[in-house]
Amino acid sequence: MSAHVYPMPDAVKTDARLNPETYASKYQDSVSNPEAFWAKEGERLTWFSPYSKVKQTSFAPGNIDIQWYADGTLNACYNCVDRHLAERADKTAIIWEGDEVDVQKSISFRELHEQVAKFANGLKKLGVKKGDRVAIYMPMVPEAAYAMLACARLGAVHSVIFAGFSPNAIADRVNDCGAKVVITSNEGRRGGKGVPLKPNVDEALSDDACPTVEHVVILKHTDVAYDMQDGRDVWWHELIGDCDTDCPAEVMNAEDPLFILYTSGSTGQPKGVVHTTGGYMVYASMTHEYTFDIREDDVYWCAADVGWVTGHSYIVYGPLANGTTTLMFEGVPTYPDVSRIGKVVDKHKVNILYTAPTAIRALMAKGDSAAKGSKRDTLRILGSVGEPINPEAWEWYYKTIGNSRCPIVDTWWQTETGGILIAPFPAATDMKPGSAMLPFFGVKPKLVDNEGQELQGATEGNLIIEDSWPGQARTLWGDHERFEQTYFSTYKNVYFTGDGARRDEDGDFWITGRVDDVLNVSGHRLGTAEIESALVAHECVAEAAVVGYPHDLKGQGIYVYVTVVDGVEANDELKKTLVQWVRKELSPIATPDYIQWSPGLPKTRSGKIMRRILRKIAGNDYSNLGDTSTLADPSVVDSLIENRLNR
Ligand code: ATP
Ligand code: MG
Repeated sequence: MSAHVYPMPDAVKTDARLNPETYASKYQDSVSNPEAFWAKEGERLTWFSPYSKVKQTSFAPGNIDIQWYADGTLNACYNCVDRHLAERADKTAIIWEGDEVDVQKSISFRELHEQVAKFANGLKKLGVKKGDRVAIYMPMVPEAAYAMLACARLGAVHSVIFAGFSPNAIADRVNDCGAKVVITSNEGRRGGKGVPLKPNVDEALSDDACPTVEHVVILKHTDVAYDMQDGRDVWWHELIGDCDTDCPAEVMNAEDPLFILYTSGSTGQPKGVVHTTGGYMVYASMTHEYTFDIREDDVYWCAADVGWVTGHSYIVYGPLANGTTTLMFEGVPTYPDVSRIGKVVDKHKVNILYTAPTAIRALMAKGDSAAKGSKRDTLRILGSVGEPINPEAWEWYYKTIGNSRCPIVDTWWQTETGGILIAPFPAATDMKPGSAMLPFFGVKPKLVDNEGQELQGATEGNLIIEDSWPGQARTLWGDHERFEQTYFSTYKNVYFTGDGARRDEDGDFWITGRVDDVLNVSGHRLGTAEIESALVAHECVAEAAVVGYPHDLKGQGIYVYVTVVDGVEANDELKKTLVQWVRKELSPIATPDYIQWSPGLPKTRSGKIMRRILRKIAGNDYSNLGDTSTLADPSVVDSLIENRLNR
């Protein structure tokens, strides 16, 4: 498939931070003089005491040691809250849009400061101090951000657990990090339904399953009442009832941990990724500013959940460090119907919308309904994150949501990278649907073959990052060996992303999917992303997942799972049409051997397709599916097994 090129819209070019020339020279500067470059960028934060060291990083075997700004001191909460009081006290820090259409509120930086300081004092009463771990299992309400910031204020290390996780998954994470306190809510609301959070925590902690937990703090978000456990449980409002708003921000070293966050678990058992304070904050702030070309009066909406790294870096830390108004949405894009996103954009005059391909495809499956009842003319920039965005979904997002006026920044990054590494930065480049395009400043992506030899020019290979950047994870909690093993042992002296990528003639990057998912059909390497995109480009296909299975002649055969668009009949004739379609759109090499109709696909709770499970079903070897704790809906898997085609 040859790429269609979309120029950056003119409106975005006006006063943009970057253009192709300034991007190129700044990038050059960042990689040839990283010390000087990052020394200067560090000044975007407020430091309690300055750093004299900037970059001390080693990827050497046996000595993975990553430190940035190592002798500086600061506080992340101070940078997100206190320092804005002088000039932005009355500016809205957080706009909250509830699950129901008419429920919302605005919180100024002044109020944010009061709430965070009070809650931090409350946590202090429970004995929380610098270095302690605190688990946060909260709905998407402002208090989730208060809780994160209050931990940061005290120097406690938070670990946010996505509110869709089961009691077992909570217990695993709480125990892995040894949390002293769990912060939750009686109930969350999603899509018009209640989500029982407190009962899940109770179950996770039952039978002394989590011995490190001393207290549970419960926010009263709805009227549902659950039993409180004496001595352990305390209501949020009672805890802060007598707390004052004076709570000095702890002096933290740049390399003190800010948070632990477990990865999505797409490829296996989740990893407890550790991010520290100084480098992470510099990187979150800078990437947020440049990727979204942020202006002082912007209303910025990242529709992710704080349970994922996107929520950490681009709902809370990045935007608030920059003094940006950040919108938090409690609900789902399809409730009460698919027009919700557009209506929220109009209501709050949103300028920047950042969401995920999984949400975009869900809306796209309903045709143009998502655009009904809203104009979306305040939008300036759209973003995408989490999976490769299929060109078809890109075009739909561009035209239907963005009225063909707004660039799409397709941001490639990982929990481990802390912030965006590759994206089409406005207005540094034109756009190619499906391509993440260019590296951020200081980031050196390279492609290598399976032996680690660097590949030059237009080619495809394993994506590695040659040198450190400030937002990089420092370790896996309590397991530095697994950190080295996972990211630094496949190829020596570089960071291995686990993803594959293609670089085109212009030097732009295309993420082809996870390296483990790459197919080898009769000696031809095929990325899952490309075949899936070809399928999604057909008008009857809403979503597709492609995996390989052992094949006697070809080495690997191609097994395709397809979800059809609402109202389309999934029959044998359509199968034939899709086979021909893929042959024509992509190549006869990519001819599917099996097409299984799949009303639903197994996804992580962050919405990513879990191909490792689909691979097992396709290979008729489904007895041991590995870690399925992060699966959003296990019943999907049972029905796929039941209807499998390769028996
Ligand atoms: P685990 O590491 O536990 O298997 P995960 O990799 O899904 O889980 P995340 O850190 O949330 O956990 O996701 C990062 C991955 O998501 C990337 O490595 C990449 O495969 C995919 N990804 C994220 N953004 C993009 C994008 N814009 N284009 C293509 N792929 C993306
Ligand atoms: Mg990963």
